[in-house]
Amino acid sequence: MSEQPLLQVHNLKTYFYTEDGVMPSVDGVDFDLHEGETLAIVGESGCGKSVTSLSIMGLVQCPPGKIEAGEILYHGKDLLKISKKEMRSIRGNEISMIFQEPMTSLNPLLTIGYQLTEGLRRHHGMSKAEAHATAVSYLEKVGIANAEERMKQFPFQLSGGLRQRIMIAMMMSLQPRLLIADEPTTALDVTIQKQVLLLLNRLKQDMKTGILFITHDLGVVAQIADRVIVLYSGSKVEEGATRQIFENPLHPYTNGLIAAVPNVDSDEFEIRPIPGTFPSLTEEIGGCRFHPRCPYATERCRQEVPQALEYEPGHFVACHKVEEENK
Ligand code: SF4
Repeated sequence: MSEQPLLQVHNLKTYFYTEDGVMPSVDGVDFDLHEGETLAIVGESGCGKSVTSLSIMGLVQCPPGKIEAGEILYHGKDLLKISKKEMRSIRGNEISMIFQEPMTSLNPLLTIGYQLTEGLRRHHGMSKAEAHATAVSYLEKVGIANAEERMKQFPFQLSGGLRQRIMIAMMMSLQPRLLIADEPTTALDVTIQKQVLLLLNRLKQDMKTGILFITHDLGVVAQIADRVIVLYSGSKVEEGATRQIFENPLHPYTNGLIAAVPNVDSDEFEIRPIPGTFPSLTEEIGGCRFHPRCPYATERCRQEVPQALEYEPGHFVACHKVEEENK
């Protein structure tokens, strides 16, 4: 892992202005991502993980969204301060994103073959024949049979699962420096999911690609991530190496997420949901935003926002209880 981070996000605040009020979807998030590293961002739906990735890609729709504060440094360059043209060029050449919904990236009017080869020819200077052979090999790598036939088809002729794999093949074939993958394997069956995770791992090792992996699935996190950040209601509540997060989760929310994962090795195959419901982001909640759901909440938790403290090297947590127990 190199010294200089590939990506540094500082105090990112992305708000949405709706009829119901202001939604601080991302509210002061910080993290670094190095080359050749996979960082997972985890949390329930609405925690701010997808808005974080859209903010990095410069794809937050304004209005209603707006990046109110922060820095997004890619190789030291602030992506929030560059022109739209420069951002488009970085997006095409160096940063790729795999979306949860493949039709966001695939053009319904163009064949799969055209869409796969176009980027390879434009960004990697390949000949038509080279681009075709590379595209077919990537389709095969993501487990697509009859790849030559698929190249001639249009997206509407394919199932959702196939379109998702095609999009993954397309993004991986471009060998980006930074890959943002937003729930990329959620719609795939377990075998194909494993295959895709292996390929992403290979991309990271061989090409030193930095991968930001957005997911609510902790099983996938354990298979792919080097480090993890846990978001709750727009804020980072815990960060650490994957081993630290799984072996010694400190924040009550992280504990709840891990306890909610079904344990397939145990006789007791039980999903234990985290008590309470995820708050509406427009709802004013003082102090720790997790306090209405936290079994350890005290008066201090209701009044004072907890600050992140380094509990052990590289393992940060924002919780009054952990702070008081480790004074
Ligand atoms: Fe629970 Fe308080 Fe910690 Fe928030 S700060 S997670 S309410 S113990």
